Amino acid sequence: MNIYGITPSELEEYFKKSGENPAKASLVFDGIYRKDILELSQLGFSDRVTSALLRDFSFELPTVAERLSDGDTAKLLLKLSDGEFVETVLMRQHFGASICVSTQIGCAMGCAFCQSGRLKRRRDLRPEEMVGQLVAVQREFGVKISNVSVMGIGEPFDNFENVRRFCEILTAPKGLEIGEKHITVSTCGLVPEIRRFAELNHPCNLAISLHAPNDELRSRLMPINRRYPVGDVLDAAEYFSVKANRRVTLEYIMLSEVNDEPYHAEQLAKLIGGRRFYVNIIPYNSTEAEDFRKSSRERIMAFYDVLKKNGVKVTMRREFGSGLKAACGQLSADYQK
Ligand code: SAH
Repeated sequence: MNIYGITPSELEEYFKKSGENPAKASLVFDGIYRKDILELSQLGFSDRVTSALLRDFSFELPTVAERLSDGDTAKLLLKLSDGEFVETVLMRQHFGASICVSTQIGCAMGCAFCQSGRLKRRRDLRPEEMVGQLVAVQREFGVKISNVSVMGIGEPFDNFENVRRFCEILTAPKGLEIGEKHITVSTCGLVPEIRRFAELNHPCNLAISLHAPNDELRSRLMPINRRYPVGDVLDAAEYFSVKANRRVTLEYIMLSEVNDEPYHAEQLAKLIGGRRFYVNIIPYNSTEAEDFRKSSRERIMAFYDVLKKNGVKVTMRREFGSGLKAACGQLSADYQK
């Protein structure tokens, strides 16, 4: 088993079973998560304990294949144990360091505007490979991550159990201890999994990649909409928001002359109605998909104003990392090519 794929209480169990003091678990997790301890021998355990740990656990992390940074954004290309590559992004924000984590190698969703969708889904990432992205970033840049966006390559709810487990490890007491409200999982709208997520005991925040206010347009941009139409997606999001007593973010990328007309904003406001959603307007980052262009500042402001006038809560996402091809939707890790 990989140490980055278990929780501190599971390691306590392990120590108990081997007749050791379970408090050793905290020392291990402190060492690997906070103190940059690279060698187990540095933890100060006896040789017996150290060799048992080395026998029973792998301490392997993804290795850094490439590192790019530009101002407050940095991107790591990580190589996994089977030779696959994955990308992860660090953003230094005023409230702390946040990371954008990938959940799959490639993605099966095929959204028309998204770079990650051009790579076929090759496999799911395991929990330790998601935790590994965070640990690699913390070590590489000497930061402590305080916020996690599960918005990198892949569809998190197409890898539900591993992502659920990842969130459990992130939030576990005596481990990374990142609060569930500091973690956001973003989905293109897999309805049964949104409902499953809502049923969890302490779910993280939920974001829905909406990007269009009606089925006709959304189905053109996002094939998944043919399976789960807009109305069903928002009903599931509402179910989450009531159950978790939390607002849900609807992400909306602004694609010039595609989904950014004032009447789209009106449709969107109507669709939301009185529900506890807020809209996060995202500037489109150009990719190899040449059919789309970024909306102008004027069009974005006009769209924003219509939403506001209709009583919708709305925020605008700051653009990070476009210079590094590390902005939303630009991750691709097409290094195998
Ligand atoms: N599969 C999940 C999470 C990964 S995508 C989801 O769909 O939510 C993270 C966000 O970036 C999504 O909202 C996605 O639609 C958006 N995105 C994709 N391509 C983009 C681009 N070129 N510019 C801006 N945002 C983009």
